Amino acid sequence: MSASELPAILGGTPLRPEGPPAWPGDCPEVSDALNACLSDGSWGKYHGPNCEALIEQLNTFHDVSETILCASGTVAVELALRGVRVEPGDEVILAAYDFKANFQNVLTIGAVPVLVDIDPTNWQLDVSQVEAAISDKTKAIIVSHLHGGWVPMQSVMELAHRLGISVVEDACQATGAILDARRAGTAGHVGVLSFGGSKLMTAGRGGAVMTNQPEIAQRIRLFTQRGNEAYPLSEMQAAVLRPQLDRLDGRNNARWDSVRQLSKELKQLTSSQGEPVLRTLIDAYPKDDAGRPAFFKVGLQYDIARSTGLSRATFSDAMRAEGIAIDSGFRGLHRIHSKRRFRSVGNLPNANVCDEHILVLHHPVLLDDSDSIRQIRVAAERVFSHAEAINKRRMP
Ligand SMILES: *Cc1c(COP(=O)(O)O)cnc(C)c1O
Repeated sequence: MSASELPAILGGTPLRPEGPPAWPGDCPEVSDALNACLSDGSWGKYHGPNCEALIEQLNTFHDVSETILCASGTVAVELALRGVRVEPGDEVILAAYDFKANFQNVLTIGAVPVLVDIDPTNWQLDVSQVEAAISDKTKAIIVSHLHGGWVPMQSVMELAHRLGISVVEDACQATGAILDARRAGTAGHVGVLSFGGSKLMTAGRGGAVMTNQPEIAQRIRLFTQRGNEAYPLSEMQAAVLRPQLDRLDGRNNARWDSVRQLSKELKQLTSSQGEPVLRTLIDAYPKDDAGRPAFFKVGLQYDIARSTGLSRATFSDAMRAEGIAIDSGFRGLHRIHSKRRFRSVGNLPNANVCDEHILVLHHPVLLDDSDSIRQIRVAAERVFSHAEAINKRRMP
Protein backbone atom coordinates (compact mmCIF):
# COMPACT_ATOMS: atom_id res chain seq x y z
CA MET A 1 0.00 0.00 0.00
CA SER A 2 1.45 3.30 -1.04
CA ALA A 3 0.40 6.86 -0.42
CA SER A 4 1.17 8.07 -3.93
CA GLU A 5 -1.48 5.92 -5.64
CA LEU A 6 -4.64 7.57 -6.92
CA PRO A 7 -7.29 7.96 -4.19
CA ALA A 8 -10.54 6.06 -4.64
CA ILE A 9 -12.51 9.32 -4.74
CA LEU A 10 -10.59 10.12 -7.97
CA GLY A 11 -11.20 6.68 -9.43
CA GLY A 12 -8.30 4.74 -7.89
CA THR A 13 -8.63 1.35 -6.18
CA PRO A 14 -9.83 1.73 -2.58
CA LEU A 15 -7.38 0.67 0.12
CA ARG A 16 -10.19 -1.46 1.54
CA PRO A 17 -12.29 -2.54 -1.46
CA GLU A 18 -14.32 -4.70 0.93
CA GLY A 19 -15.22 -1.58 2.98
CA PRO A 20 -15.00 -1.23 6.75
CA PRO A 21 -15.30 -4.38 8.88
CA ALA A 22 -18.87 -5.44 9.63
CA TRP A 23 -20.47 -4.85 13.00
CA PRO A 24 -21.53 -6.97 14.72
CA GLY A 25 -18.99 -9.51 13.45
CA ASP A 26 -19.22 -13.28 13.67
CA CYS A 27 -19.66 -14.44 17.22
CA PRO A 28 -20.21 -18.17 17.77
CA GLU A 29 -21.43 -17.55 21.34
CA VAL A 30 -24.24 -15.40 19.97
CA SER A 31 -25.28 -18.20 17.59
CA ASP A 32 -25.31 -20.60 20.54
CA ALA A 33 -27.42 -18.17 22.57
CA LEU A 34 -29.94 -17.80 19.73
CA ASN A 35 -30.12 -21.56 19.29
CA ALA A 36 -30.75 -21.95 23.01
CA CYS A 37 -33.62 -19.43 22.69
CA LEU A 38 -35.09 -21.58 19.93
CA SER A 39 -34.86 -24.81 21.84
CA ASP A 40 -36.23 -23.52 25.16
CA GLY A 41 -38.93 -21.41 23.47
CA SER A 42 -37.82 -18.19 25.20
CA TRP A 43 -37.59 -16.46 21.81
CA GLY A 44 -41.39 -16.15 21.83
CA LYS A 45 -42.12 -15.62 25.52
CA TYR A 46 -42.75 -12.55 27.65
CA HIS A 47 -40.65 -13.97 30.46
CA GLY A 48 -37.78 -16.42 30.58
CA PRO A 49 -34.34 -16.87 32.10
CA ASN A 50 -32.39 -14.43 29.92
CA CYS A 51 -33.41 -10.97 31.16
CA GLU A 52 -32.97 -12.00 34.80
CA ALA A 53 -29.56 -13.51 34.05
CA LEU A 54 -28.44 -10.41 32.12
CA ILE A 55 -29.49 -8.15 35.01
CA GLU A 56 -27.45 -10.28 37.42
CA GLN A 57 -24.46 -10.19 35.09
CA LEU A 58 -24.66 -6.40 34.58
CA ASN A 59 -25.03 -5.81 38.34
CA THR A 60 -21.90 -7.86 39.03
CA PHE A 61 -19.90 -6.37 36.17
CA HIS A 62 -20.71 -2.80 37.22
CA ASP A 63 -20.88 -3.45 40.96
CA VAL A 64 -24.31 -1.85 41.25
CA SER A 65 -27.41 -3.07 43.07
CA GLU A 66 -30.05 -2.24 40.44
CA THR A 67 -30.16 -2.58 36.67
CA ILE A 68 -33.37 -1.96 34.72
CA LEU A 69 -33.41 -3.17 31.12
CA CYS A 70 -35.30 -1.13 28.54
CA ALA A 71 -35.92 -0.57 24.85
CA SER A 72 -33.07 1.81 23.95
CA GLY A 73 -30.38 4.10 25.31
CA THR A 74 -32.61 7.02 24.43
CA VAL A 75 -35.44 5.68 26.57
CA ALA A 76 -32.88 4.86 29.28
CA VAL A 77 -31.86 8.54 29.50
CA GLU A 78 -35.51 9.57 29.80
CA LEU A 79 -36.10 6.96 32.53
CA ALA A 80 -32.96 8.11 34.35
CA LEU A 81 -34.20 11.72 34.32
CA ARG A 82 -37.60 10.61 35.61
CA GLY A 83 -35.87 8.46 38.22
CA VAL A 84 -34.18 11.54 39.71
CA ARG A 85 -37.53 13.40 39.67
CA VAL A 86 -37.02 15.78 36.76
CA GLU A 87 -40.42 17.39 36.18
CA PRO A 88 -41.96 19.93 33.81
CA GLY A 89 -40.43 23.38 34.32
CA ASP A 90 -37.20 22.02 35.87
CA GLU A 91 -33.83 22.70 34.28
CA VAL A 92 -31.33 20.04 33.21
CA ILE A 93 -27.71 20.91 32.45
CA LEU A 94 -25.85 19.16 29.61
CA ALA A 95 -22.93 19.82 27.28
CA ALA A 96 -23.64 21.88 24.17
CA TYR A 97 -21.83 19.15 22.21
CA ASP A 98 -23.73 15.95 23.02
CA PHE A 99 -25.97 13.26 21.55
CA LYS A 100 -29.09 14.87 20.07
CA ALA A 101 -31.54 12.60 21.90
CA ASN A 102 -30.26 13.76 25.30
CA PHE A 103 -31.50 17.27 24.52
CA GLN A 104 -34.80 15.90 23.17
CA ASN A 105 -35.31 13.79 26.30
CA VAL A 106 -35.16 16.89 28.48
CA LEU A 107 -37.79 18.55 26.26
CA THR A 108 -39.93 15.39 26.30
CA ILE A 109 -40.29 15.68 30.05
CA GLY A 110 -41.21 19.36 29.70
CA ALA A 111 -37.96 20.47 31.30
CA VAL A 112 -35.53 23.07 29.94
CA PRO A 113 -32.03 22.14 28.67
CA VAL A 114 -29.23 24.42 29.91
CA LEU A 115 -26.15 24.12 27.71
CA VAL A 116 -22.59 24.34 29.01
CA ASP A 117 -19.44 24.65 26.92
CA ILE A 118 -16.79 21.98 26.23
CA ASP A 119 -13.37 21.71 27.87
CA PRO A 120 -10.92 22.19 24.97
CA THR A 121 -8.34 19.85 26.54
CA ASN A 122 -10.57 16.75 26.44
CA TRP A 123 -13.57 17.80 24.26
CA GLN A 124 -16.03 16.85 27.02
CA LEU A 125 -18.40 18.85 29.25
CA ASP A 126 -16.43 21.63 30.96
CA VAL A 127 -17.06 20.90 34.64
CA SER A 128 -15.64 24.29 35.67
CA GLN A 129 -18.56 26.02 33.92
CA VAL A 130 -21.35 23.95 35.45
CA GLU A 131 -21.81 26.15 38.49
CA ALA A 132 -22.56 29.15 36.26
CA ALA A 133 -25.47 27.16 34.77
CA ILE A 134 -27.23 26.60 38.08
CA SER A 135 -30.52 28.31 38.89
CA ASP A 136 -33.16 27.59 41.52
CA LYS A 137 -34.85 25.36 38.91
CA THR A 138 -31.85 23.09 38.25
CA LYS A 139 -32.70 19.48 39.03
CA ALA A 140 -30.08 17.39 37.25
CA ILE A 141 -27.09 17.25 34.93
CA ILE A 142 -26.50 14.77 32.08
CA VAL A 143 -22.84 13.86 31.79
CA SER A 144 -21.86 11.96 28.59
CA HIS A 145 -18.48 10.38 27.99
CA LEU A 146 -17.95 10.88 24.27
CA HIS A 147 -15.67 9.60 21.50
CA GLY A 148 -13.31 7.70 23.84
CA GLY A 149 -12.90 10.65 26.22
CA TRP A 150 -14.42 11.02 29.65
CA VAL A 151 -15.64 13.64 32.06
CA PRO A 152 -13.83 13.72 35.43
CA MET A 153 -16.62 12.24 37.55
CA GLN A 154 -15.05 12.97 40.94
CA SER A 155 -15.25 16.72 40.25
CA VAL A 156 -18.78 16.34 38.87
CA MET A 157 -19.95 14.46 41.97
CA GLU A 158 -18.35 16.91 44.41
CA LEU A 159 -20.03 19.77 42.63
CA ALA A 160 -23.40 18.00 42.36
CA HIS A 161 -23.30 17.17 46.05
CA ARG A 162 -22.53 20.75 47.00
CA LEU A 163 -25.20 22.16 44.68
CA GLY A 164 -27.83 19.54 45.49
CA ILE A 165 -28.43 18.28 41.95
CA SER A 166 -28.63 14.73 40.54
CA VAL A 167 -26.21 13.27 38.02
CA VAL A 168 -27.24 11.12 35.04
CA GLU A 169 -24.09 9.50 33.67
CA ASP A 170 -24.45 8.53 30.01
CA ALA A 171 -22.04 5.65 29.33
CA CYS A 172 -23.61 4.66 25.99
CA GLN A 173 -20.32 5.37 24.18
CA ALA A 174 -18.10 4.10 26.98
CA THR A 175 -19.60 0.78 28.01
CA GLY A 176 -17.06 -1.14 30.08
CA ALA A 177 -14.61 1.76 30.38
CA ILE A 178 -12.92 2.13 33.77
CA LEU A 179 -12.65 5.67 35.14
CA ASP A 180 -11.10 6.35 38.56
CA ALA A 181 -11.14 2.59 39.25
CA ARG A 182 -14.90 2.18 38.59
CA ARG A 183 -16.96 1.28 35.57
CA ALA A 184 -18.32 4.08 33.39
CA GLY A 185 -21.94 4.75 34.34
CA THR A 186 -21.59 3.94 38.03
CA ALA A 187 -20.23 7.19 39.49
CA GLY A 188 -23.38 9.26 38.95
CA HIS A 189 -26.67 8.79 40.81
CA VAL A 190 -27.92 6.89 37.79
CA GLY A 191 -26.09 5.53 34.74
CA VAL A 192 -27.23 4.69 31.24
CA LEU A 193 -26.15 2.12 28.62
CA SER A 194 -27.22 1.56 25.01
CA PHE A 195 -27.40 -1.77 23.20
CA GLY A 196 -28.18 -0.14 19.85
CA GLY A 197 -26.99 -1.67 16.58
CA SER A 198 -23.70 0.20 16.36
CA LYS A 199 -22.76 0.07 20.04
CA LEU A 200 -20.07 -1.95 21.83
CA MET A 201 -22.64 -4.48 23.02
CA THR A 202 -25.50 -4.80 20.58
CA ALA A 203 -28.89 -6.40 20.33
CA GLY A 204 -29.88 -4.12 17.45
CA ARG A 205 -31.88 -2.12 19.97
CA GLY A 206 -31.96 -1.94 23.75
CA GLY A 207 -30.66 -0.09 26.77
CA ALA A 208 -30.25 -0.20 30.53
CA VAL A 209 -30.42 2.09 33.54
CA MET A 210 -28.20 1.42 36.58
CA THR A 211 -28.28 2.79 40.08
CA ASN A 212 -27.36 1.99 43.67
CA GLN A 213 -30.34 3.90 45.01
CA PRO A 214 -33.45 1.70 45.43
CA GLU A 215 -35.78 4.71 45.44
CA ILE A 216 -34.54 5.80 41.99
CA ALA A 217 -35.04 2.26 40.67
CA GLN A 218 -38.48 2.13 42.26
CA ARG A 219 -39.57 5.38 40.62
CA ILE A 220 -38.39 4.10 37.22
CA ARG A 221 -40.23 0.79 37.66
CA LEU A 222 -43.41 2.62 38.60
CA PHE A 223 -43.12 4.68 35.44
CA THR A 224 -42.47 1.71 33.13
CA GLN A 225 -44.98 -0.74 34.67
CA ARG A 226 -48.42 -0.14 33.27
CA GLY A 227 -49.84 -3.53 34.05
CA ASN A 228 -47.37 -4.50 31.39
CA GLU A 229 -43.84 -3.31 30.62
CA ALA A 230 -43.99 -0.13 28.53
CA TYR A 231 -40.37 -0.15 27.29
CA PRO A 232 -39.22 -3.77 27.44
CA LEU A 233 -36.04 -5.50 26.34
CA SER A 234 -36.94 -8.95 25.00
CA GLU A 235 -35.70 -12.35 26.14
CA MET A 236 -34.01 -12.83 22.77
CA GLN A 237 -32.17 -9.51 23.05
CA ALA A 238 -31.01 -10.35 26.57
CA ALA A 239 -29.78 -13.74 25.35
CA VAL A 240 -27.47 -12.25 22.69
CA LEU A 241 -26.14 -9.58 25.06
CA ARG A 242 -24.94 -12.00 27.76
CA PRO A 243 -22.02 -13.53 25.82
CA GLN A 244 -21.04 -10.07 24.56
CA LEU A 245 -20.68 -8.84 28.13
CA ASP A 246 -18.32 -11.77 28.78
CA ARG A 247 -16.17 -10.59 25.89
CA LEU A 248 -16.39 -6.85 26.52
CA ASP A 249 -13.21 -6.37 28.56
CA GLY A 250 -11.12 -8.40 26.11
CA ARG A 251 -12.47 -6.44 23.18
CA ASN A 252 -12.06 -3.07 24.91
CA ASN A 253 -8.42 -3.93 25.63
CA ALA A 254 -7.84 -4.78 21.97
CA ARG A 255 -9.51 -1.52 20.90
CA TRP A 256 -7.34 0.46 23.30
CA ASP A 257 -4.18 -1.15 21.83
CA SER A 258 -5.37 -0.16 18.36
CA VAL A 259 -6.07 3.43 19.40
CA ARG A 260 -2.56 3.74 20.81
CA GLN A 261 -1.16 2.51 17.52
CA LEU A 262 -3.47 4.83 15.58
CA SER A 263 -2.32 7.85 17.59
CA LYS A 264 1.30 7.06 16.75
CA GLU A 265 0.48 6.59 13.07
CA LEU A 266 -1.44 9.86 12.89
CA LYS A 267 1.38 11.82 14.51
CA GLN A 268 3.28 11.19 11.30
CA LEU A 269 0.76 13.27 9.34
CA THR A 270 1.97 16.81 9.75
CA SER A 271 1.41 20.14 8.04
CA SER A 272 4.24 21.95 6.26
CA GLN A 273 4.86 23.67 9.63
CA GLY A 274 5.22 20.27 11.29
CA GLU A 275 1.92 20.39 13.21
CA PRO A 276 -0.33 17.31 13.39
CA VAL A 277 -3.29 17.49 11.00
CA LEU A 278 -5.40 14.85 12.76
CA ARG A 279 -5.17 14.60 16.53
CA THR A 280 -6.65 11.97 18.83
CA LEU A 281 -7.40 12.57 22.50
CA ILE A 282 -4.45 10.34 23.40
CA ASP A 283 -2.90 12.80 25.85
CA ALA A 284 -6.16 13.05 27.79
CA TYR A 285 -6.64 9.27 28.16
CA PRO A 286 -5.82 7.57 31.46
CA LYS A 287 -2.27 6.33 31.84
CA ASP A 288 -2.57 4.17 34.93
CA ASP A 289 -4.31 1.05 36.20
CA ALA A 290 -7.20 3.11 37.57
CA GLY A 291 -8.41 3.86 34.08
CA ARG A 292 -9.04 2.36 30.68
CA PRO A 293 -11.04 4.13 27.98
CA ALA A 294 -13.59 2.43 25.74
CA PHE A 295 -14.10 3.40 22.14
CA PHE A 296 -17.48 3.40 20.45
CA LYS A 297 -16.01 6.06 18.18
CA VAL A 298 -12.49 7.45 18.23
CA GLY A 299 -12.67 11.24 18.24
CA LEU A 300 -10.22 13.06 15.95
CA GLN A 301 -9.70 16.82 15.63
CA TYR A 302 -9.33 17.76 12.00
CA ASP A 303 -7.64 21.01 11.19
CA ILE A 304 -8.29 22.23 7.67
CA ALA A 305 -5.81 25.07 8.11
CA ARG A 306 -3.07 22.49 8.65
CA SER A 307 -4.17 20.13 5.89
CA THR A 308 -3.86 20.95 2.26
CA GLY A 309 -7.12 22.81 2.03
CA LEU A 310 -9.59 19.90 2.17
CA SER A 311 -12.74 20.63 4.12
CA ARG A 312 -13.64 18.17 6.85
CA ALA A 313 -16.59 16.91 4.79
CA THR A 314 -14.47 16.35 1.68
CA PHE A 315 -11.75 14.63 3.70
CA SER A 316 -14.24 12.23 5.30
CA ASP A 317 -15.90 11.55 1.92
CA ALA A 318 -12.49 10.69 0.49
CA MET A 319 -11.66 8.45 3.47
CA ARG A 320 -14.97 6.61 3.23
CA ALA A 321 -14.27 6.04 -0.47
CA GLU A 322 -11.09 4.24 0.69
CA GLY A 323 -13.24 2.00 2.91
CA ILE A 324 -12.49 3.76 6.22
CA ALA A 325 -15.54 4.49 8.44
CA ILE A 326 -14.90 8.15 9.27
CA ASP A 327 -17.67 10.72 9.67
CA SER A 328 -18.23 14.17 11.12
CA GLY A 329 -19.06 14.24 14.84
CA PHE A 330 -22.21 15.70 16.42
CA ARG A 331 -23.69 19.09 15.64
CA GLY A 332 -23.55 21.61 18.47
CA LEU A 333 -26.99 21.43 20.12
CA HIS A 334 -27.21 25.23 20.21
CA ARG A 335 -26.74 25.28 16.44
CA ILE A 336 -29.61 22.95 15.57
CA HIS A 337 -32.25 24.11 18.06
CA SER A 338 -34.16 27.35 18.38
CA LYS A 339 -32.85 29.60 21.15
CA ARG A 340 -36.34 29.58 22.62
CA ARG A 341 -35.81 25.93 23.58
CA PHE A 342 -32.77 26.27 25.86
CA ARG A 343 -30.61 28.48 28.06
CA SER A 344 -26.85 28.50 27.76
CA VAL A 345 -23.80 29.66 29.66
CA GLY A 346 -21.97 32.13 27.41
CA ASN A 347 -21.77 31.66 23.66
CA LEU A 348 -20.15 28.20 23.69
CA PRO A 349 -16.99 28.83 21.63
CA ASN A 350 -15.44 25.42 22.30
CA ALA A 351 -18.63 23.57 21.39
CA ASN A 352 -18.42 25.47 18.09
CA VAL A 353 -14.89 24.13 17.61
CA CYS A 354 -16.16 20.58 18.23
CA ASP A 355 -19.12 21.12 15.90
CA GLU A 356 -16.74 22.20 13.13
CA HIS A 357 -13.65 20.07 13.67
CA ILE A 358 -14.44 16.67 15.16
CA LEU A 359 -14.28 13.55 13.05
CA VAL A 360 -15.18 10.15 14.44
CA LEU A 361 -13.80 6.76 13.45
CA HIS A 362 -16.27 3.91 14.04
CA HIS A 363 -14.97 1.18 16.37
CA PRO A 364 -15.13 -2.14 14.39
CA VAL A 365 -11.78 -1.53 12.66
CA LEU A 366 -10.16 -1.38 16.11
CA LEU A 367 -10.68 -5.13 16.46
CA ASP A 368 -8.83 -5.77 13.19
CA ASP A 369 -5.09 -6.35 12.93
CA SER A 370 -2.44 -3.65 13.03
CA ASP A 371 -2.30 -3.53 9.21
CA SER A 372 -5.82 -2.16 9.18
CA ILE A 373 -4.77 0.59 11.57
CA ARG A 374 -1.78 1.45 9.40
CA GLN A 375 -4.13 1.57 6.40
CA ILE A 376 -5.98 4.48 8.03
CA ARG A 377 -2.79 6.55 8.04
CA VAL A 378 -1.91 5.52 4.47
CA ALA A 379 -5.44 6.40 3.29
CA ALA A 380 -5.13 9.86 4.87
CA GLU A 381 -1.70 10.38 3.27
CA ARG A 382 -3.06 9.34 -0.10
CA VAL A 383 -5.97 11.76 0.23
CA PHE A 384 -3.79 14.66 1.44
CA SER A 385 -1.23 14.18 -1.29
CA HIS A 386 -3.97 14.53 -3.93
CA ALA A 387 -5.84 17.31 -2.14
CA GLU A 388 -5.72 19.76 -4.99
CA ALA A 389 -7.11 17.30 -7.52
CA ILE A 390 -9.80 16.22 -5.06
CA ASN A 391 -10.93 19.80 -4.57
CA LYS A 392 -11.01 20.32 -8.33
CA ARG A 393 -12.78 17.06 -9.15
CA ARG A 394 -16.04 17.27 -11.02
CA MET A 395 -18.97 16.18 -8.93
CA PRO A 396 -20.90 13.29 -10.48
C1 LIG B 1 -26.11 5.84 21.24
C2 LIG B 1 -26.21 6.84 22.33
C3 LIG B 1 -27.36 6.94 23.13
C4 LIG B 1 -28.60 6.08 23.00
O1 LIG B 1 -28.83 5.56 21.78
P1 LIG B 1 -29.94 4.50 21.37
O2 LIG B 1 -29.66 4.35 19.93
O3 LIG B 1 -31.26 5.12 21.66
O4 LIG B 1 -29.76 3.23 22.13
C5 LIG B 1 -27.36 7.89 24.14
N1 LIG B 1 -26.30 8.70 24.35
C6 LIG B 1 -25.18 8.63 23.61
C7 LIG B 1 -24.03 9.51 23.92
C8 LIG B 1 -25.10 7.71 22.55
O5 LIG B 1 -23.99 7.66 21.81
